[in-house]
Amino acid sequence: MLLVSAPVLGVPEKAALSKVIDSGWLTMGERVRAFEEAFAAMHGADDCVAVSSCTAALHLILYGLGIGPGDEVLVPSLTFVATVNAVLYVGAKPVFVDIESDDVPLMSIEDAEASCTSRTRAVILVHFAGYLANKQEWQTFASVRGLYIIEDAAHAPGLKEVGTFGAGAAFSFYGNKNMTTAEGGVVITRDPGLREKIRQARGHGMTTGTHQRLNSRTPQYDVTMLGFNYRMDEMRAAVGLVQLRNLQEWNEVRRILVALYRRLIAMRCPAVSMPFAEARTSAYHIMPILLPRYVNRQDVIDQLREQGIQTTIHYPPVHHMTLYRELFPGVHLPRTEDFADRELTIPLHPQITSPVAEAVVDALASALNGGARAGTAA
Ligand SMILES: *Cc1c(COP(=O)(O)O)cnc(C)c1O
Repeated sequence: MLLVSAPVLGVPEKAALSKVIDSGWLTMGERVRAFEEAFAAMHGADDCVAVSSCTAALHLILYGLGIGPGDEVLVPSLTFVATVNAVLYVGAKPVFVDIESDDVPLMSIEDAEASCTSRTRAVILVHFAGYLANKQEWQTFASVRGLYIIEDAAHAPGLKEVGTFGAGAAFSFYGNKNMTTAEGGVVITRDPGLREKIRQARGHGMTTGTHQRLNSRTPQYDVTMLGFNYRMDEMRAAVGLVQLRNLQEWNEVRRILVALYRRLIAMRCPAVSMPFAEARTSAYHIMPILLPRYVNRQDVIDQLREQGIQTTIHYPPVHHMTLYRELFPGVHLPRTEDFADRELTIPLHPQITSPVAEAVVDALASALNGGARAGTAA
């Protein structure tokens, strides 16, 4: 089966893991620190905080900013549920905002403006599929209203601009992302005060970590805030250091594959549209396409599956999930709903070759033309 996403893992990752085991030090040690330094450097940041997931990173940013009950946070619905769950974790209210258009399925700034109230404190921008939101427009929007910008950068690691929009950015190293540590995440924030608060909150709110205590004269620590266990361990950091060295090259392969897909689909599947027609900075996390309205998506999914090609949907809208329907009934986001009804994500990862991409587009073209099901019996 050709998967939508697959991690690239090999001998260097195995060697890095073995070294950690041989070292006898398993969590929050030198490798976590080295990973933080390397990840920050790649993004032009002074420093960052490695955590256990992007979800934890989002939670810590909201928590660190003091967002809580009575506050509202603007969120897209065209995202993974974790973006919105994090707002509930701190007791604030997520306010769903529609996308701009089929072509630019990022949060609509006009709709965001219309959704602001006196309780709005922040907006979470998701760089959907890896394509960056418009930094200048959002900074103007946020500064006029005194709002924090939080980036959910799960789809966009490796880009210098990411983490510079506002208060902080959350990254994911889950197994299907552009680089992986199996589970893992990072917070980048340019504000040193916020960063140290987040660093402390990551480890139970303790004033020092175990590794620091090993290297200092006093074994004492204090707890000065309510914290969490959102630590990263040495094995993940060791894998992360190896993966990070490949990230730019992998993102470049993704870019080339997306360009190839765009050319082939325009030629062979002219009824299919592809978001982000205009050039835009991207980490090319996924390849979303929009099927024409007359096509039965499930048939296309089934036919591609018969050809050994996995497809997925990004995303079933969060406001349609039972939890969110019960909490916030009556939300209607017409552009998000239409996009989500027609979207299909085709395989995109660095191990896909040109012939494989061609085969995917051929299978797609034949599925759209009735394919094997309609038969060619003449
Ligand atoms: C994967 C993902 C997350 C969650 O990341 P975890 O590291 O699994 O917590 C959050 N937001 C988006 C947009 C994602 O794609």
